[in-house]
Amino acid sequence: MQQFTYRRASTLDDVFKMPGRFLSGGTNLIDHMKLDVETPKAIIDVGRLPLEKIEKTKTGLMIGAAAKNADVANHEIVKKDYAALSQAILAGASAQLRNKASTAGNLLQRTRCVYFRDTSKPCNKRQPGSGCAAIDGYNRNLAILGVSSKCIANHPSDQNVALMALEARVHLQSAGAKREVALNDFYLLPGDTPEKETVLREGELITGVSIDAPPSGSKSYYLKLRDRASYEFALASTAVVAKVSEGRIERVRLAMGGVGAKPWRLLEVEKMLEGQNASPELFARAADLAVRDAKPQSMNAFKVELAKRCLVAALTHITKA
Ligand SMILES: Cc1cc2nc3c(=O)[nH]c(=O)nc-3n(C[C@H](O)[C@H](O)[C@H](O)COP(=O)(O)OP(=O)(O)OC[C@H]3O[C@@H](n4cnc5c(N)ncnc54)[C@H](O)[C@@H]3O)c2cc1C
Repeated sequence: MQQFTYRRASTLDDVFKMPGRFLSGGTNLIDHMKLDVETPKAIIDVGRLPLEKIEKTKTGLMIGAAAKNADVANHEIVKKDYAALSQAILAGASAQLRNKASTAGNLLQRTRCVYFRDTSKPCNKRQPGSGCAAIDGYNRNLAILGVSSKCIANHPSDQNVALMALEARVHLQSAGAKREVALNDFYLLPGDTPEKETVLREGELITGVSIDAPPSGSKSYYLKLRDRASYEFALASTAVVAKVSEGRIERVRLAMGGVGAKPWRLLEVEKMLEGQNASPELFARAADLAVRDAKPQSMNAFKVELAKRCLVAALTHITKA
């Protein structure tokens, strides 16, 4: 690990006094620093800023950037009105990690691609222009949607898939300004610049995430498929938020995890499902559409079928619930 300076910010004004890399729970960034994958010279600890509240708002819910994953998942309002978010967080990592990990840190957690985490191997995301060892290497767990010739890494988070289906907005602050970005516009596809993962600007702090309450009568659900039942990242997952009346899908929002270069929103599938009566045939067509643009790699063609089954199972569950 390289030497770095450490400074703890106790107010928002403190944060912008000096440049540096933000640290929250440290469960991702510190790992990367130990591996020399990331080598920041200055760290600003933002994990104890007064940004840990989870509050009901006029339109829905506001979750502070420093709110711990465990506190969000176990919050009464989240469990009741945003069940998919609670289920997604509880399906990730371990209890100990969830007690430390923060909402903002989870939003910005980086891929688990083994070549990204191994500095002896080429990786365009870690070292632009060095190549992608995964394309001809071990790519079983990597992305099939949104990949490029420069990078096939997948986005690892569960939380962010649920937030995507809940159409969350990310609240950002810099020295002179505040802005909000829809989560759907927050993540970038790898293209030719896989090192650029979000629209976050240099020095910009995430202060929170807001969610508008889905229309009354909506339900939500998160289904995660993985190699073992705990402490494992998704091979495929689905978050669904839906309002169903007597078998008719009035409104649906869908996102998938494990399969995309970013949390994967299924806008076309949503349009195709809305106004239709739930049926196995309809869900089979939805699943085909969801993976229409999939580009499986040498070891992960199984994810195409797995993603389809995951989506069908989640839709079946929500329309029967
Ligand atoms: C063994 C293991 C298993 C795991 N399994 C899962 C899993 O199954 N599913 C899953 O979803 N996740 C899993 N995780 C990942 C875990 O959820 C993340 O490590 C965690 O959410 C990161 O949050 P943090 O607060 O610790 O982030 P940090 O490590 O503190 O920061 C991560 C990134 O966010 C930036 N950052 C932090 N706060 C801010 C802010 N306010 N504004 C701007 N930038 C900020 C940092 O600069 C850094 O780039 C696992 C992790 C481990 C170690």
